[in-house]
Amino acid sequence: MRANRYDLVIIGAGILGLAHAYHAARQGLKVAVIDRDAQANGASVRNFGFVTVTGQQRGDFHSLTRRTRDIWAEIAPQAGIVIHHHGLLVSAQRPEAMAVLQSLMMTEMGEGCTLMDAEAVRAHYPQLTPTQLEGGLWSPHEVRVDSRSAIHQLTRWLEAAHQVDFHWSTSVHGVQTGHVATSRGAFNADHVIVCPGDDLATLYREVFQRHEVTRCKLHMMRLADPGFTLPGAVMSDLSLVRYLGYAERPEAAALKSRLEREQGEHLKQGVHLIVVQNADGSLVVGDTHHYGDTPDPFAPSAYDDLVLEEFENVFGRPAPAVLERWTGTYASSPKQQFFIETVEERVQLVVVTCGAGASSGFGIAERSLDQLLGHTQAPLSAQAE
Ligand SMILES: Cc1cc2nc3c(=O)[nH]c(=O)nc-3n(C[C@H](O)[C@H](O)[C@H](O)COP(=O)(O)OP(=O)(O)OC[C@H]3O[C@@H](n4cnc5c(N)ncnc54)[C@H](O)[C@@H]3O)c2cc1C
Repeated sequence: MRANRYDLVIIGAGILGLAHAYHAARQGLKVAVIDRDAQANGASVRNFGFVTVTGQQRGDFHSLTRRTRDIWAEIAPQAGIVIHHHGLLVSAQRPEAMAVLQSLMMTEMGEGCTLMDAEAVRAHYPQLTPTQLEGGLWSPHEVRVDSRSAIHQLTRWLEAAHQVDFHWSTSVHGVQTGHVATSRGAFNADHVIVCPGDDLATLYREVFQRHEVTRCKLHMMRLADPGFTLPGAVMSDLSLVRYLGYAERPEAAALKSRLEREQGEHLKQGVHLIVVQNADGSLVVGDTHHYGDTPDPFAPSAYDDLVLEEFENVFGRPAPAVLERWTGTYASSPKQQFFIETVEERVQLVVVTCGAGASSGFGIAERSLDQLLGHTQAPLSAQAE
């Protein structure tokens, strides 16, 4: 049997694999995406779909998220993907949280954002009626898609408009330069990109080990329509000691000390609050963070209750009924936000090692392809035949 032949084979149909497919197809390459599942089912369909810019780590990563946000905004209408929100409201419940937001506003990361006192937050955002409120920050930079449908729409659009071939239910068990071995036979490819998400064991285990990658498990919920429309995504004080753009501000240390005293259990279970809204009014709310190479499959409701408690703190009303619960996992490393590594000649392993692949994937994939192809312009299949 003649092997399938492509300019570029991508392993993994999550957002990082799709982002590579998008950039490569636009350069005229013949692209295939291989995934072991019958449809994307990993972190990319389980997340908030929250493309976060403000609060991401200052410098390179922040720039990559801006670039990614621009690409989402450009392709969403073409792919039929609805952008549900523009922007982010960070509610500051404590003076120490306001100090972090003020500090961020003094840097280039505050560009375009608005800092508000409590009175202004209450006036502009009547959805929030908390007892404890110092002020807040509005960022216009974010977009939000419903990943559960958006990833499938993106896949269909790449197939129909960019002639990307998808090979589902096909497990890759070995890669060598020019050759991909799968459960459904061999593929020949001039170049290979490996985007296996948090599968740390099947391919290039030693590279994952060197980058100190483990897995992070998160609890997520969908809540009933609260009867109001969110202005954008909403976050709170707990996020300011987790997202590095805030957490690396010197003022975050005082906030962390106070949170340790007042919300120690939330910090212990890695709880912070993100709230986004779907077209039907329901809210997607999370999350928790627990780490391990094989996180257990159990989801104690006590951890969900901590998330719902924070919802009540921020909105000043009890959380609506829980309609759905699920967990997800992503690759996580204390060493870096992502890595692009040449693992063999013309084979690159690309992994986002923080919980921000939807926010950074298009930017990372663009850089990764530039690196892999060396800015090659002509379709490579012509050279390879
Ligand atoms: C609950 C949750 C909430 C999150 N919220 C956000 C958010 O709002 N914003 C944000 O920016 N990020 C968020 N993240 C992080 C983000 O979802 C991830 O960083 C991103 O989805 C990773 O994309 P990926 O394509 O690398 O991995 P995945 O989506 O996990 O895809 C990897 C794919 O590779 C396939 N695969 C692996 N190995 C093989 C093999 N050997 N053969 C064949 N196929 C293989 C898998 O089947 C899978 O489909 C969240 C993550 C979770 C879990």
